Amino acid sequence: MTPSNLDEHSEEETEEKIKQFHELGLDDRILKAIAKLGWLEPTLIQEKTIPLILNGKDVLIRARTGSGKTGAFVIPLIQKILSNKEIHQHQQISGLILSPSKELCKQIHEVCTNLTIKCSRDIKFVDISAQLDLVTQQPLLIEKPDIIIGTPGRVLQHLKAKNLYLKKTIETLIIDEADLIFSFGYENEIKALLSYLPIVYQAILASATLSEDVLSLKKLVLHNPAILKLEEPPLAPPSQLTHYTLTAEENDKATILYTLLKLSLIRGKCIIFVNTVDRCYKLKLFLEQFGIPTCVLNSELPASSRCRAVTQFNTGTYDIIIASDEKALDEPHTTNQKNGKRRKDKESGVSRGIDFQFVSNVINFDFPLDINAYIHRAGRTARGKNEGTALSFVAVRERPMLNEIEEELKKLYDQENLFKTYQFKLSEVEGFRYRARDAWKAVTRIAVREARLKEIKQEVLNCDKLKSYFEDNPKDLQSLRQDKALHTVRLQPHLRDVPEYIVPSSLKMIASGIRHNKRKFNRKASIGTSAVKSKYQARANNPLIALKLFKK
Ligand code: AMP
Repeated sequence: MTPSNLDEHSEEETEEKIKQFHELGLDDRILKAIAKLGWLEPTLIQEKTIPLILNGKDVLIRARTGSGKTGAFVIPLIQKILSNKEIHQHQQISGLILSPSKELCKQIHEVCTNLTIKCSRDIKFVDISAQLDLVTQQPLLIEKPDIIIGTPGRVLQHLKAKNLYLKKTIETLIIDEADLIFSFGYENEIKALLSYLPIVYQAILASATLSEDVLSLKKLVLHNPAILKLEEPPLAPPSQLTHYTLTAEENDKATILYTLLKLSLIRGKCIIFVNTVDRCYKLKLFLEQFGIPTCVLNSELPASSRCRAVTQFNTGTYDIIIASDEKALDEPHTTNQKNGKRRKDKESGVSRGIDFQFVSNVINFDFPLDINAYIHRAGRTARGKNEGTALSFVAVRERPMLNEIEEELKKLYDQENLFKTYQFKLSEVEGFRYRARDAWKAVTRIAVREARLKEIKQEVLNCDKLKSYFEDNPKDLQSLRQDKALHTVRLQPHLRDVPEYIVPSSLKMIASGIRHNKRKFNRKASIGTSAVKSKYQARANNPLIALKLFKK
C-alpha cells in the first residue's frame, strides 16, 4: 500500500516514517479512547492523514470504506479542539462534518462518541441529520456544540432559519463521502452553505473515488491541498485474513453450519453468503428452529431496508447476517453514461459507506461463482486492522472454481497454499445430522415464500412514502395489519438446546467451557479486540477453534 501525491500543485511529502498512535502528538484522553476501541495501531490512512490535519493542511483523502478514514479525520479534529480549549475557554462550534446520508452521519457520530469517551465533558457534538422539526433541534444548537454532524441539506436549513451561526466560528470543515454529495443532489446546498462559512478554514474531503464531482468540490473548498490516495489490495494480507475451505456436499452443509454455530465453534459476528434470496430465507428459517437468530440482507428490497438490516447487525441486534448478493451494498451512484445525465437518486447510493462492522467470519455457505464475488465477500471481514476468517463450504464439483480462485489469490499475495483445510468429521456429529435434516426439510418452499411475503408486508407498513396513503385509506392499512398470521415453520422448543449426548466427546469440554465463558464476555472480547487472557477466552477468540479439535 503506498500513498501517493496525485496533485502536481500540492506540496505533500510521500516518504514518512511509520508512526504509532502515541507518536502522533495526541492527547492522552484520545489515546485512552483509541486503546479502549482496541485499535492497536493506526491504519495507513490514519498514519498519513492525522499529522497533515494537525499541521493545518487541507487534505483530500481517497480511501475506501473500511480503511479507517472516519478515524483519520475525527481523531485530529478532536485533538485540534482539545488543544484550542487549553488556550481559550469559550464554547463555540468549530467543526462541521457533512455527510450525504442520515445513516452515515449516525456512523460518524458513533465514532465521535467512542473517541471522546475520556473527554466527554470537554467536547460536545451533535448529529442533526434526523428529519425532526427544526424547532426540536434548536435547543441542541443553542448549546454551541464543538462539532456539528449533518447532511448538507439539513445544515443549510438550520443556517437559513438562523438556528446556526458559523461565520466566525468554524475552523474545520470535513466532507465525507464527497463523491456522493453531488450525486445525491446536494450541489446547490453545498454552494449555498459555503457562503455561511468564514473565508479561512481548514477543509478535508474524504471520498472513495476521485470523480469529476469530487474535483469540482475540491476546487470549491480546498486550498492547495495534500492529496492522499491509497492503493490498497482488495483483500487484507493472509496474516490478517485466513482463508479456510471445508469439503461439504449440499446435503451436509446445513448440518455442519448448525453444529459450528450451536457449539460456538465459530465465534464473533458472521456474514453467511448464499447464492439466491430464497436460500437466505431458507437458511434463516432453518437456523431459527434452533434458536439461532439471524437477519437477512435482501438485495431485492430498497437500499434503506438493507441499511436497516446492516445497522441491526452492526448494533448487535443480530450477530449473523445472511446475504445473497455480495454487491447488495455497492450500488452504483455514478453518472448514467448512456444519456450523460447524472442520476440524482438518493436511494441509489445510500448504502455505500454503510459498512458491516467487526465481522470476524465470512462463511460461504454457497461457494461464490467467480473470483470477484469471492474477493468481495471475503473483503467484508478483516477490516481496519481487525483479524478475520473466510470459511468456504466447497462441494466436489466446485473444486475447479476453488482452484481458479486460489490461482488468482496466489498472484495477489505471492503465496502458495493460501487456503487451509478446515477438518470436520461429520461422522462425529450424527446426532446433529438427524436434527438438521428434519429442520431443513421443514423449511418448505411455501414457508420460504410466506416469510418473504411477510417481510414485504412489513416494508409496506414501514414505508414513509405510503404513510399519507394509509392516512387517507385506513381500511387498507387495517387489512394489511389484520392479515392472518403467516404460517412459516413450526418452532419446536426442544430444538433450541443441544442435548449432552449428541456432543462429540472431543468437543464436550470446549463446548461447555465456551458456553460458560460466553456469559462473562463482553461484546468486545467476542470480536477479538481486547486482550483475552484465560485459556478458554484465548480459544474462543480464535473464530475457528474447531480446526484443531476435529483434526485427525
Ligand atoms: P471506516 O473506514 O472509518 O469506516 O472504518 C472501518 C472499520 O475499521 C471500522 O469498523 C473501525 O472501527 C475500524 N478501524 C478504524 N481504525 C482502526 C484501527 N486503527 N485499528 C483497528 N480498527 C480500526
